[in-house]
Amino acid sequence: MLIGALEAGGTKMVCAIGKEDGTILEQISIPTTTPEETIPKLIGYFQDKEIEALGIGAFGPVDVNTESGTFGYILDSPKLAWRHKDLVGGLKKALGIPVGLDTDVNGSCLGEVTYGCAKGLDSVIYITIGTGVGVGVWVNGGLLHGMLHPEGGHIFLPRHLEDPDGGICPYHRNCLEGFASGPAIEARWGKKAVELVDMPEVWELESYYIAQALVDYILVLSPQKIILGGGVMHQEQLFPMIRAKVLEMLNGYINTEELGDMDNYIVPASLKDNQGIMGCIKLGLNALEASR
Ligand code: ADP
Ligand code: ZN
Repeated sequence: MLIGALEAGGTKMVCAIGKEDGTILEQISIPTTTPEETIPKLIGYFQDKEIEALGIGAFGPVDVNTESGTFGYILDSPKLAWRHKDLVGGLKKALGIPVGLDTDVNGSCLGEVTYGCAKGLDSVIYITIGTGVGVGVWVNGGLLHGMLHPEGGHIFLPRHLEDPDGGICPYHRNCLEGFASGPAIEARWGKKAVELVDMPEVWELESYYIAQALVDYILVLSPQKIILGGGVMHQEQLFPMIRAKVLEMLNGYINTEELGDMDNYIVPASLKDNQGIMGCIKLGLNALEASR
C-alpha cells in the first residue's frame, strides 16, 4: 500500500511516497510561496501516485481539530500569505482520499514513536531546535492537542546572567525560541551556529536554556523519553551538557530509572532527519484507518 506524506514547512514542502513500514520510495521538495501557487503543485505531484491516504505535518499554528469549521487552515502564522488559508481542503478534494493532519513537530514525534527510538513508549516529547523551536507531545499513547496544540517552543524562561541582550522572539522576547533557536544564536554571537563550534560559551548558554525547558517539560508531562532534533541539535556536544544541567536543575527531586540512564533518556532524533516525513506516513495511515 502506498501513502503520501507531506511535510509542509514555511520555506519548503517536502513531498514523499512511502509504505506502511516507513520506507520512503521517492521524495521531492517544492518551495513554499503562496497557497494559490503551491497547492496546485502539491496536487500535481500526488495525484497520479496511486496513494490511498495522505498525511500532513504542517507549520503552524494550524487548526488540527477535525470537528472545527476551519480544520486544516493555517491560523495566525507569521507567514502572511498563508494566514487563514486552507492547507488541507483543496488537496483532500482533488485527491479524494483520507487526509491526516498534525503539526510538524507532532508528526516528528509520531515518526519516532512509530518507527524510531521511542517505539512502544506511552509518553514521549520531541523538540526541534532549528529556525524555530517546537515541541511535539505524545501522551498516554496519543498526540496531544487540547484547545489548539502545544506551542512549547514559546515557554518563558529566566535569562542567563551572562546573556545581556536576552532573547529575540517578537512576541515574548525571552522565551525558549527567543533564546535558543538558530537565529537567536546568530543574533547573539553575530555568526551562524555552525561557525561557532569552537566557542564553549555559546554552547554553555544554549544548553542552559534547553535544559531549563526540558526540566519544565519533565515536571509537567513526565515523558519517558525526550528526543531533540532540528539543525542546532546537530551540535552533538550539546547532549552531555544538557543531560548534566537537567540533573543539576532537578536537584534530586525526581529519581526514576529513566533519569538514572540519561544517555538513553535525552537522545538525538534516530531516523536520520526522516522522522518528520515518516511521521506523515503514519498520519496518513491513521486517517485511512479512521475512514474505514
Ligand atoms: P528548519 O527549522 O527551518 O526546518 P533546521 O532544523 O535545519 O530547519 O534549522 C535551521 C537552523 O539550524 C538555522 O538557524 C541554522 O543556523 C541551524 N543549523 C543548521 N545546521 C546546523 C549545525 N550543523 N549546527 C548548528 N546549527 C545548525
Ligand atoms: Zn516566543
